[in-house]
Amino acid sequence: MGLLENMVAIITGGSRGIGKAMVYAFVEAGAQVAFTYRSSAEEAIAIQDDLNTSGQMVKAYQSDASLYDDAGTFVKQVMEDFGKIDILVNNAGITKDTLLLRMNEDQWDQVINVNLKSVFNLSKHVMRPMLKARSGSIIHISSVVGVFGNAGQANYAASKAGVIGFSKSLAKEIGSRGIRSNVIAPGFIETDMTHVLDEATKETFLKGIPLNKLGSGQDVSDAAIYLGSDMSTYVTGQVLSVCGGLNM
Ligand code: NAP
Repeated sequence: MGLLENMVAIITGGSRGIGKAMVYAFVEAGAQVAFTYRSSAEEAIAIQDDLNTSGQMVKAYQSDASLYDDAGTFVKQVMEDFGKIDILVNNAGITKDTLLLRMNEDQWDQVINVNLKSVFNLSKHVMRPMLKARSGSIIHISSVVGVFGNAGQANYAASKAGVIGFSKSLAKEIGSRGIRSNVIAPGFIETDMTHVLDEATKETFLKGIPLNKLGSGQDVSDAAIYLGSDMSTYVTGQVLSVCGGLNM
């Protein structure tokens, strides 16, 4: 029996990268999955069609996580389609990297809205069904950059540090109601987000990773399955780094 058997999970940004790996891993672990995308409709539908042969319900929804009303409509639809929500993974995220001297207001606002406001939007909307069920696990995908900072990523690092503060506060608010809130802080994971980096930057990162390799979507998914499952029922308010030991 899989660790997520009979559970319903929401994963934001499931059309590519870590989110896509997580959709597959969660289904393999026995979960039914509702996942969102913003613009990659073709990829999302292909994942949905591929996984629906598994016998578990898997559904893709076009929903912009940075918009409060979109998040509300999406959660309502998931409740209608699946009947409950056991796990929320706040994964959707973007980068708009540049030094602060060159950063414009739009680059700041977009990153904060997609990476941080989305976490408020989705967490807020799943509160009602989770409080009613008196159980739930909320997992936020932050980044080691939110802990250590990184030149050229002031907007991204601020959004990811904000996610950690949000999660720790939420854990204190809702622990007594049986709901947990934890953060995964990935290091350098091979996805579209990191493919844009030049080889020299990747080499520099690699030198600082004791395990001497980049991470995969599966590495992050394994941590998310642990935090979503009953293996972690006494774990809340924590930040779990999945970074090969990277110390920036
Ligand atoms: P990715 O390959 O660029 O994929 C991003 C995903 O987020 C896509 O599915 C995308 O949907 C979705 N998305 C973006 N904006 C959205 C929005 N407004 N509403 C809904 N979905 C949205 O990125 P990734 O590398 O997998 O990153 C996933 C998460 O891990 C992010 O939060 C990122 O900050 C974090 N992270 C990544 C790394 C890394 O090394 N890759 C390290 C630390 C943390 P569309 O396909 O429709 O655009």
